[in-house]
Amino acid sequence: MDILRPIEDKYSIEKEHWVGTAFRVKNYFPEGKNLLDRFSPFALMDYNAPREFPPSKSARGIGPHPHRGIETVTLAFQGSVEHHDNAGHHGIIYPGDVQWMTAGKGIMHKEYHEKGFQKTGGIFHVVQLWISLPKKDKFTEPRYQDIRNENMGKIRLENGMGEITVISGEVIDTKGPALTFSPINLYVVNLQSQGKITLEEPGNYNTGILIMKGNIEVNNTSCVENDFVLFENREGKIKINNASKDTKILVLSGEPLNEPALAAGPFVMNTKEELRQAAEDYRNGVFGTDNF
Ligand code: MN
Repeated sequence: MDILRPIEDKYSIEKEHWVGTAFRVKNYFPEGKNLLDRFSPFALMDYNAPREFPPSKSARGIGPHPHRGIETVTLAFQGSVEHHDNAGHHGIIYPGDVQWMTAGKGIMHKEYHEKGFQKTGGIFHVVQLWISLPKKDKFTEPRYQDIRNENMGKIRLENGMGEITVISGEVIDTKGPALTFSPINLYVVNLQSQGKITLEEPGNYNTGILIMKGNIEVNNTSCVENDFVLFENREGKIKINNASKDTKILVLSGEPLNEPALAAGPFVMNTKEELRQAAEDYRNGVFGTDNF
């Protein structure tokens, strides 16, 4: 008998809010549940479930705003997202791509629906994660990784049951291209009808899955679309069975930083003093220009 990794919690978020005019999100954490310590290094997950945006003549987005102490990771599944920041980075991610921005010591950026998508409209399906930087890397230089789907690790499951796309870390001997500051396995599992897969993550890693499309059984527990499943920190297999057609799952698994995490607005730091300093630095223009 395989030992299964126990499920600690399973929850879904109904409530949605706008982030600027571009993202209509369900906040799974820290607003849905405060998992800042429990789910380190992951600090935030905003989920824009598939939603139709009509064609628009005006830009849809979030204007210049700061971040410090984190990486913001944006995964586009449908629709396209454009990014500019005051460290000189510019990028557009299309369906299947990921943008991995390191805010580090401080950055200003803006995030928009890509102009072509804005004009034609369509289904928009995006996840944004915030990942805490380790204390020693909080003030690293800003960095931008534009990760194209074709450069991600791909695992084809036997019998045409589906595919795993590895963004960072390593899954079943396949690596993902994203550079991270702490060990993180981030990947997307697509399953066909009746598809199944057994996953195994280190027991000390904080591990959770978001079911973005379809229904599955996770360790003999029925899960439906929009459920988030948090696992206990114990060794054990994650057995996914009985997938419905076109099931899509996001797996987040990371080694805990074992450092205090405190969040205020766009900043995630280790102490209250560092949060106060971040707000003061922002007021004093230390984050640089908002004209880019
Ligand atoms: Mn942002």
